This record gives sequence, C-alpha cells and structure tokens, in this order.
Amino acid sequence: MLTGRRYRLELSVEQAMLAETFGSICRTVWNVGLEQQREYRRHGRSIGYVEQCRQMAEAKADFPWFAEAPSHVLQQVLRDLEGACRRHGPFRVRWRSQRRWAPSMRFPDGKLIRVERVSRNVGRARLPKLGWVRFRWSRPLGGEVRAATVSRDGGKWYIAFRVDTPEKETTVSLERGRVGIDRGVVQAVVTSDGRMFDRAFMTPGETERHRRLSRQLQRRRTGSARWHATADAIVVLQARVRRRRADFNAKTARNLVTGCALLVLEDLNVRAMTASAAGTAERPGTGVARKRGLNRSIRDKGWFALELACRSAARTTGTVIRKVNPAYTSQTCPRCRNVDKNSRESQAVFACTSCGYREHADVVGAKNTLAAGLGGYRTWRPPVVGRVCEASTARERPAARLPRPRESSEAVGPTRRRPSKGVLDSRRHPGQLPLW
Ligand SMILES: [Zn+2]
Repeated sequence: MLTGRRYRLELSVEQAMLAETFGSICRTVWNVGLEQQREYRRHGRSIGYVEQCRQMAEAKADFPWFAEAPSHVLQQVLRDLEGACRRHGPFRVRWRSQRRWAPSMRFPDGKLIRVERVSRNVGRARLPKLGWVRFRWSRPLGGEVRAATVSRDGGKWYIAFRVDTPEKETTVSLERGRVGIDRGVVQAVVTSDGRMFDRAFMTPGETERHRRLSRQLQRRRTGSARWHATADAIVVLQARVRRRRADFNAKTARNLVTGCALLVLEDLNVRAMTASAAGTAERPGTGVARKRGLNRSIRDKGWFALELACRSAARTTGTVIRKVNPAYTSQTCPRCRNVDKNSRESQAVFACTSCGYREHADVVGAKNTLAAGLGGYRTWRPPVVGRVCEASTARERPAARLPRPRESSEAVGPTRRRPSKGVLDSRRHPGQLPLW
C-alpha cells in the first residue's frame, strides 16, 4: 500500500538556496508548459507530455540554467501539468506565481534516493543534485521508498516520502459498529453515539496577534523589507494553525474509524455552503458580515480535510465510508421520524414537538445521518474484507435476504420530495444566485 511519510528537513544554507532555485525552475517549466498547452488549444490542437519533454531537452541548449535542476524532476512537472490539463482543461489550470506558490518538487525515481538513519532522531536522504539532506527522524519509515517530494511550507522545508508499506490484512471490527457523524461549527465533529471532538486551532493571543499583523501589513509599502518581515510573520502563524488542524484531523479520523465498520458522513457541498453572501453591486446581499463570519468558521474547521483523513485512515481498518444527503437531518426526530424545524429548540437542544424526545441537536443530526447511511435497513453488514469481529453487544439480525444497500461514495438519502438546494439557497441569501 502506498503511504506518505513527511519529515522536517534541516537544510544547510546552500542546500536551501539550491532547493529554492530548483523550485523556481520547476515554476518556470510549469508556466511555460501551461502557456504552450493553451496556445495549442487556441489553435484547436493539443500537445502531450512526450513532445513537451523533447522540446524542453532542446531548450536546455539555449537556457543552460535549466540543467541546474535534475531533469526527471522537471519531467515530473510536465507530467503533472499534462494530468491537470487533462482533468480541468488548460484554461482552468492556474499559473504558479512566485508570491503565491510555495516551491515543491518531486523526485519520482525511488531508485535514485537513498535513505539512512544517522542517529536516534536524525535521518538523511541522498537526492539527485541536492546531495545528502538531513531530516528529523520523527517516525519510522516502514517500507520501501518510491519517491520523495521536497517542499517549503511556512518558511520551513519538508520531505515527504512515498513509501510502499507491506499490505496488512484489514480486520473489520464491529466493536463500535456503525457510526454517523455530524460536522458542525460549534463542535467540529459529533458522533451518533454521543462523542464530541473539537479543538481551537488558534489561541486568543494568536488571534489578536494575527489581527495586529494583518493591520500592520496594510500599512507597509508592498514589497518593502518591512512588508516582507510582517508577511513572513503571518505565514509562520498560519502554518502553525494548519499543522494543528492537520493533527486534529488525523487523530480524530483515527479515533472515528477504529473499531468501526461503517462511517456515515453528510455529503456537504462546502464550496456552496461557504459562498459569499455579498451579491452584486446592483443587488447587494443581506447579512453579509454574519455570513462571512460563518464561512470563516466553516473553513476554519477543515471539514473536507477531515473527510480525506477518514478515508486515509480507513484504508488500514477496512471501514466503509458512505456519504448521504444531509437534508432534514437536523430537523427529524430519530425516535418518531417527525420532521419539524421547530423541534430545534436552540443551537444545541433538540426537543421533538410530537413525542417530546430530547437530545443534543448535533447528536440528533449524527443519528439521522447514520439512519440514512444504513439505507433504511438496520442490518447493514460490512462487505467481506478479511475477518469480521462481532462485538457481543451487537444486536443486529442476520442480513439474510435483504438487498445490499448501495456502496460507498454515492449519496443515499431520504426519498421524500424536498425543495432543491438551489431554491433553499436563494431563499436564505436573496442576493446570491443558486449555483445549480
Ligand atoms: Zn419525536
């Protein structure tokens, strides 16, 4: 199984400058290659990876600085570019600007990379043209190195190895059985069995510092030395927040999938949910500032990254991940199935207007998500992946003749008629046109 292992690099000053140069050359190759792809498309033709590689080799005669970077790294850039253009079309692929794009380069040939452990906490890797680079041996490598990516993030350099780890036999455990989760703003994750996961990614002091630095940046003259100093301080702060979020997502995902056979998520369209409410100059939206605050909270929680982390963690546990339509999951009573938006007593409390069932509102959402994921059958069974450990508390009947519900990643939901998302959207934010 291919897995990523990321380590903090400790480059010497010369190596950092060299890596910076490699990054610039990769950026140039990407931008020139992209312009070429676009030019061909404008004339109704297309150019492939092989032809672009050949032309790049020829160009090295005129631009000798091209040859400073390892050629298979540059070829990898063109291969990535071709993939991006094929998926999105050359006009939707972005330029890599020096300001916005942090240098990142992949050494695609594992045979040219040697990795050694120097001491308990230090390892070193030999990379073409970069030489031996030291890194913090913060976790075991656990397999054969297939490729390496060197990148800079928040002023620090990292190396990520693509490692081929031996395939473990996955064991689907029903210890916690089937879990539905509700992703929210107040609590990042709430499960159907009542567990809650949340963490603040920025301390109050850091929030204040971020606000002060942002204001300071606006006062500085763009591009000046002092502007760069402030911008660097912001980058460092934001990178710390990003690392905390990634850490939270990885740990939460591991916690969620462990001992869980089926994990049901709401199929959230985060991009549509966080669309700006600003509207246009002719038809300005209402509640713009409030919506902007909500959008920031949603993005701050990193919902999509959590889903990715769950999928990644599920590869080792055999957990099946399904996504369901989230419509009405917060308004439906899990006991009597009564749908009423007045059942939401407050943000946190759900009290059914029909049967009086009371529960934490997010837990209700998670329970309904799970019910939708089970597809109406209480007897969902994991597909046969390895061994199945039945917990003694499992109260399910055997799934003898029931049709198997649809598999992961497709949305299953209530079959009841409901207004389309676009209608809901435009009603809530009058200035905003529905996205579909
Ligand atoms: Zn009820």
